[in-house]
Amino acid sequence: MTKRAISPAEASEQILASIERMPVERVPLAAALGAVLAETVVARVSIPPWRSSSMDGYAVRASDISAAPCSLRVAGEITAGGDSSSEISAGEAIRIMTGAPVPRGADTVVRVEDTDNGAPSVEIHNARDAGRNVRPLGEDFREGDVLMTAGDRIGPAAIGVLASAGIATVETYRPPTVSIVASGDELVRLDNFAEVMSGERIVSSNSYSLPAMVRDAGGLPRDGGITQDDPSALRDAVNGAMACDLLITSGGVSVGDRDFTRAVMRDMGTDIKFWRARIRPGGPLVFGVVDGRPWIGLPGNPVSALVTFELFVRPAILKMLGETLLFPAPKIVTLDDAVSVSGDLTHFLRIIVRQCDDGLHARLTDTQSSGALTSMMRANALLIVPEGQQECRPGDRLRAIPLGRSMLRTATFPV
Ligand code: AMP
Ligand code: MG
Repeated sequence: MTKRAISPAEASEQILASIERMPVERVPLAAALGAVLAETVVARVSIPPWRSSSMDGYAVRASDISAAPCSLRVAGEITAGGDSSSEISAGEAIRIMTGAPVPRGADTVVRVEDTDNGAPSVEIHNARDAGRNVRPLGEDFREGDVLMTAGDRIGPAAIGVLASAGIATVETYRPPTVSIVASGDELVRLDNFAEVMSGERIVSSNSYSLPAMVRDAGGLPRDGGITQDDPSALRDAVNGAMACDLLITSGGVSVGDRDFTRAVMRDMGTDIKFWRARIRPGGPLVFGVVDGRPWIGLPGNPVSALVTFELFVRPAILKMLGETLLFPAPKIVTLDDAVSVSGDLTHFLRIIVRQCDDGLHARLTDTQSSGALTSMMRANALLIVPEGQQECRPGDRLRAIPLGRSMLRTATFPV
């Protein structure tokens, strides 16, 4: 195990080096939203499967309407899903609906608005659509085309593409189950809120926020319970939580007299890869491998737990899910507040970023205490104050990590 506190980049590297992609499973297409594809997907049909009208109107030959206005004999009608073997002869038109197969011989669909909508003969007002409104067979994709490859994430549009290509099931990476064990003598579940009311306990908020984070990242949280700061109780809880792909503990990793998590994990044979990273919040982070499964020991402080989750656990879950883009792309923000930090640490400060005319501006949330979870709730980004920098002035430009989706959204319609 590395003895010194390591940099956040080293911590991330060490964790991800021990994280593997999950085995694949075949799932119904409709259940695959957000999953990462583990196979190459090839179109089973061409779309459109026929030369297809992109307008409601009249299929004609361009050469027959060059002298428009003109009149053509209406030889029939084709609806979407209608007969694909029809044909027109010179001087004829066929009424056609959007999506219907264009009859052989026709190279144009004149919009209904450019006609008198007539039958048995139709008046064509102008020739502006000559040669237009016919989608070639396979315009979108052709049978045999590779539509997606392993590693591509399946979004809503992909679900539509794959459905139209006849792909009813897809091979994806199985979501990892993530067990979460919280420890602390002071902690209770919401069910025991009476003990909180009587001033003896606090709710184990991590037992609620961390499962939410796991779900948000695409994993399946498993409740590993809340245990006392007692080595044998902690050992029992961890043993009970071992049926998982990733083990998360919260609390007990610092240097307090009752911080037993590391000792218990070590006694259980965990190969501890590192303890402590040069970050704030979240310095006492610990990582190891127990019985072949990765274990990330998060500090109990509610903000530390969520910040270290964001920095280290979410990328691990994404890697397990087959994702290759593991990290949020940092954004450059202009600071509106003065910032003063201490220690040879990279600081991740909770900020509220908003879009201004001259770019993104950031203010600190009211408090930066790592116990104040409301700061995390209000923040939409984490400001990165790099190691070595202790003072930042208003106007300084720094990098920030977006949290959630709010930085990408606004109350104003975009056009
Ligand atoms: P620890 O990491 O165990 O030293 O805990 C640090 C601080 O975080 C203490 O103030 C704890 O009361 C608090 N804390 C620890 N675990 C949790 C938890 N699961 N939920 C909420 N607060 C916690
Ligand atoms: Mg504790």
